[in-house]
Amino acid sequence: HHPDRSTVWVGPKGHQVPIGPDTFTFIAGPCAVETPTQTLEAAEMARAAGATLLRGGAFKPRTSPYAFQGLGVRGLEILADVRETTGLPVVTEVVDARDVAVVAEYADMLQIGTRNMANFGLLQAAGEAGKPVLLKRGMTATIEEWLMAAEYVAQRGNLDVVLCERGIRTFEPRTRNTLDISAVPIVQSTSHLPVIVDPSHAGGRRDLVLPLSRAAMGAGADGVIVDVHPDPEHALCDGPQALFGADLRALAQAVRQLPPVL
Ligand code: PEP
Repeated sequence: HHPDRSTVWVGPKGHQVPIGPDTFTFIAGPCAVETPTQTLEAAEMARAAGATLLRGGAFKPRTSPYAFQGLGVRGLEILADVRETTGLPVVTEVVDARDVAVVAEYADMLQIGTRNMANFGLLQAAGEAGKPVLLKRGMTATIEEWLMAAEYVAQRGNLDVVLCERGIRTFEPRTRNTLDISAVPIVQSTSHLPVIVDPSHAGGRRDLVLPLSRAAMGAGADGVIVDVHPDPEHALCDGPQALFGADLRALAQAVRQLPPVL
């Protein structure tokens, strides 16, 4: 029913950011919201590098229950304050269907993470929240299962879904997950939805973010979403993959050198 590829618009009217075939959207921010200062500094780094959307987790889906779980609603308030200061619309994760309403109240875009891609109740709730959805691929999901997860959102009346390839689990231990770059053109030939790449959570390593971003651009992705932190060595979550300012600037330069979309 959708012969042309779609563009999803994120943010308040008049300041909407497109994600889709005619542009390459650069999203950056901290893995987790830790403090107002840390979030603002990360957002300023992102904005200075040319990012047009701010990422940041307030509800963190951690593998260990003993790891930092995020600041919850306080984190959402910080994100909203930082949006006010920087003008960057916010994408943040929701991990529980019971939190969809509050996350949608603060965020411009709801993220559904890899661990929840097949949480159908959450997908349906997100589909009714009235905000665009960033749907990450489950780390053990096939492309078909991922597209069907998007249908759960769409079926509730929300077609503003952006897919995000963030790596899948393979036998290779040198990276956290293996970025399945072939998913980008496959999704684009199968679905009208935009598809972006998360090189930070795929590799789990800062040194891979630039090469994997280049791969995403080469494969025709509609954008990248990357982690940046003002002090990665002391980050409460996923410090080893967070970019320093200089890394982010190198990435921004690569994004700017992208040839025009044909
Ligand atoms: C994230 O983007 O903060 C995150 C936890 O990503 P993923 O769900 O891909 O692991």
